[in-house]
Amino acid sequence: MSTRFDAIIIGTGQAGPPLAGRLTAAGMSVAIIERKLIGGTCVNTGCTPTKTLVASAYAAHLARRAADYGVTLGDPVGVDMKAVKARKDAVSGNARRGLENWLKGMERCTVYEDHATFISPHEVRVGDETLVSDRIFINVGGRANVPDMPGVNQVKHLTNTTILDLDILPRHLVVIGGSYVGLEFAQMYRRFGSEVTVVEMSERLVHREDEDVSDAIRDILENEGIAIRCKAECISFAPRGEDIAVGVDCLEGEPEIIGSHVLLAVGRHPNTDDLGLEAAGVATDKRGYITVDDQLRTNVPGIWALGDCNGRGAFTHTSYNDFEIVAANLLDNDPRKVSDRIVAYALYIDPPLGRVGMTEADARKSGRRVLVGERPMTRVSRAVEKGETQGFMKALVDADSKEILGASILGTGGDEAIHCILDVMYAKAPYTTIQRAVHIHPTVSELIPTILGELKPLA
Ligand SMILES: Cc1cc2nc3c(=O)[nH]c(=O)nc-3n(C[C@H](O)[C@H](O)[C@H](O)COP(=O)(O)OP(=O)(O)OC[C@H]3O[C@@H](n4cnc5c(N)ncnc54)[C@H](O)[C@@H]3O)c2cc1C
Repeated sequence: MSTRFDAIIIGTGQAGPPLAGRLTAAGMSVAIIERKLIGGTCVNTGCTPTKTLVASAYAAHLARRAADYGVTLGDPVGVDMKAVKARKDAVSGNARRGLENWLKGMERCTVYEDHATFISPHEVRVGDETLVSDRIFINVGGRANVPDMPGVNQVKHLTNTTILDLDILPRHLVVIGGSYVGLEFAQMYRRFGSEVTVVEMSERLVHREDEDVSDAIRDILENEGIAIRCKAECISFAPRGEDIAVGVDCLEGEPEIIGSHVLLAVGRHPNTDDLGLEAAGVATDKRGYITVDDQLRTNVPGIWALGDCNGRGAFTHTSYNDFEIVAANLLDNDPRKVSDRIVAYALYIDPPLGRVGMTEADARKSGRRVLVGERPMTRVSRAVEKGETQGFMKALVDADSKEILGASILGTGGDEAIHCILDVMYAKAPYTTIQRAVHIHPTVSELIPTILGELKPLA
């Protein structure tokens, strides 16, 4: 049986559903196909559940620090992991059901719940059915990498997906990977009460960030009792009774860590290997990401790729922006493009890191004359008043053009405050615009004009 649609969308990540909304509102018939959970990674196994758990971990942390604020609580503070999981499931489940109801009630939209594969450039097989369209949008996202490390298949290991099923407290969680996903889980489990070790292959945590950012994050985590093992070049696994022995060939410290649970947090892989892309002639790069142009068109006319699977972004907001770009070009005669996007993201440890634009290394490489303004959070009144003074803020500007090149705010409210820099970057306004803005006291943002008034050459 074959059914024709005006558009087919494969995957219900952060781009597919809003695109279905725009296309159907424009009068098109749309098939949207999901093989697992509607809402994809962010809603079910990514942003929403993790940030919900981060909030529970923050509550536990603050409760332990209650006496610092003159508040008396029972000692020790208890964490009920079943209740923590139930809260996470409720928040994530509500988000999924909301989206599912919206899609299933959408006029002119048909939801298929099965695996989709291309059988030609215009045909997609779903179960026994063949769907046909001249416009196909791929939004298949990615999944956790299971690295080919010695012994990995001989031990029980967790990924960012399976760890979400835990409703018990691991005695000792060993996190492989000291980047975004790994560090968020590391801190939250430490705050829930686990012993936690982070094992990272590089010289430092979040090694794409500036060294001062990496060092400050390491301090924050170590202060909470998380063990950090960097330069772990030969990681291996072996069962050890009920436990798992993790071999870490580090230059310093014990060569082996015995953990009760291992979380693999070593990157993601695009879901493009079982999509039949070869039948459609859609090109990928050597890591499996679908190659796209600045308007997210693949090499095959009538096929677009949006979200993590195109390798041009790895976040909910970049996937959603992909939807905006495609919709603007197709429906609004507005030539939006990916290259207009400014890099921006947050790392949700506590305090969070908000980031935009260039790092110091990028700025140096650009060959510009770079100025930097910095301030520790100990000199931000809002942070002092909240009793959360870890971290610092830093902004980089071009000495000649006065444009803001990038910024890092590692500190309480850093994920929000960074937006006042981001918006000025989008406005292509000089940094002096922020410097003259009168910000509200007491906020973290009010110190951004101050650091921009104290710029000095980047060493
Ligand atoms: C632990 C974790 C935390 C994260 N936290 C954040 C955060 O705080 N902020 C942020 O911006 N980003 C975060 N991310 C990243 C974010 O989740 C993704 O960038 C975002 O979900 C965008 O994904 P997407 O739209 O490309 O597709 P996805 O959300 O991955 O969805 C793709 C969908 O396609 C389906 N699919 C795949 N293949 C097929 C097929 N052949 N047939 C039918 N369906 C198919 C999949 O089942 C899936 O539902 C996090 C990710 C992880 C793993």
